[in-house]
Amino acid sequence: MIRIAGGGPAGLLAAREIARKGMDVTVYEEHGEIGKPVQCTGLVSRSGLDALDVDYADSVLNEIGQARFVSPSGKEFYLRKRKGYALVIDRTEFDNEIANEATSEGASIELGRRLLDEESITIAADGAASYFARKHGINRNYVVAYQIENRMKVDVDTVEIHFGSFAPGFFAWLVPVDENRVRMGLGYRPDVASRVHDAYNPKTALRFFAKIRGYPWVPISEQGGLIPLFDNSPSVFDNLALVGDAAAQVKASTGGGIAIGGQCAMILGKIVGEGGSLDEYESVWREKFGRELRVHLAVHKFYSKLGDAEFEELFDAVDDEILRIIEKNAEMESISGLGPVVMSYVSKHPIKAMRLAKYLKYVDGDVTSMFKFK
Ligand SMILES: Cc1cc2nc3c(=O)[nH]c(=O)nc-3n(C[C@H](O)[C@H](O)[C@H](O)COP(=O)(O)OP(=O)(O)OC[C@H]3O[C@@H](n4cnc5c(N)ncnc54)[C@H](O)[C@@H]3O)c2cc1C
Repeated sequence: MIRIAGGGPAGLLAAREIARKGMDVTVYEEHGEIGKPVQCTGLVSRSGLDALDVDYADSVLNEIGQARFVSPSGKEFYLRKRKGYALVIDRTEFDNEIANEATSEGASIELGRRLLDEESITIAADGAASYFARKHGINRNYVVAYQIENRMKVDVDTVEIHFGSFAPGFFAWLVPVDENRVRMGLGYRPDVASRVHDAYNPKTALRFFAKIRGYPWVPISEQGGLIPLFDNSPSVFDNLALVGDAAAQVKASTGGGIAIGGQCAMILGKIVGEGGSLDEYESVWREKFGRELRVHLAVHKFYSKLGDAEFEELFDAVDDEILRIIEKNAEMESISGLGPVVMSYVSKHPIKAMRLAKYLKYVDGDVTSMFKFK
């Protein structure tokens, strides 16, 4: 029997795939209900959701077509896709749909049960603060997130991403749920926050952010959570496999973990269900997503080092040509194709390139070696 710690998307998707192959599998979820409490904004690309092969229609709350990026002083640009390119989902509904699919395939779910031992093959899908990852000596870096659901009039089609020292090392976001409701939050890196603020408090910072942007503060609910930063540490230890947030299979640029973590869980479930080795899982998911996750991490590292004045300078440098290049060559789930096309843009604009060359020091060596533009 295969045992899975954690009844979030990763644990449930792994269980569904294992059960589909006819193997006994039990998911242990420490909470009394699947999908609660929610610690998520629920923004996922349609293609990312489709890749999970879940009947997610009932969990869709809103459809998104574009993203508005805003500098610390309020300069803006838009990246446009088509309406419904990304979806806002109800995580409780979504997680329960996967749980239903897993149990109809024959998986068992034990609620209110915490799993802490690893006697036989154990899958640790125990989330960002994974006990099993820490037990095996993994000490990750995190983004800490705070979010409210806010009552305010919004453009339902547009998500907003705001950079500035109110969100040190990450950004603030607005994700509309409907015309009168938005998930408004921010993330910060404690190490960056301690360098730029004496006593950083995310709730105070989010209130400050809302005030300077002229957004009302009418919270309907609030939540917080951790976003683990991908770090290339191992995901397999003898009979134990980490998956999802527990393995930091998260896009560090945005904090999104549902699509890639979920696909890694499906890879793991299929391999385990067919009696394959956990080492095979490690090599298959790295082959499929390793490069992408490294590029997202490099993007995160880049913007996390920028101060407010530097964001302003970079926003000034953004023009229609680069925006169209990004729209054409980047997807929410895949940005690694951007490297070569951005370099070709830079080579066509030598004066701009010289002005921005000082930012090369913020580009991670890992990504420069990947794209060979050092
Ligand atoms: C504020 C915030 C906003 C986010 N927004 C987005 C977003 O818009 N889009 C996106 O793609 N991602 C987002 N994420 C990330 C996303 O929520 C995670 O990547 C995703 O939930 C990971 O799924 P998981 O199954 O690995 O872990 P989780 O969903 O965290 O599930 C882990 C489960 O394990 C249980 N558990 C823990 N330890 C044990 C144990 N020992 N035994 C039994 N059960 C245990 C927990 O109770 C939990 O139910 C956000 C995260 C945060 C914090």
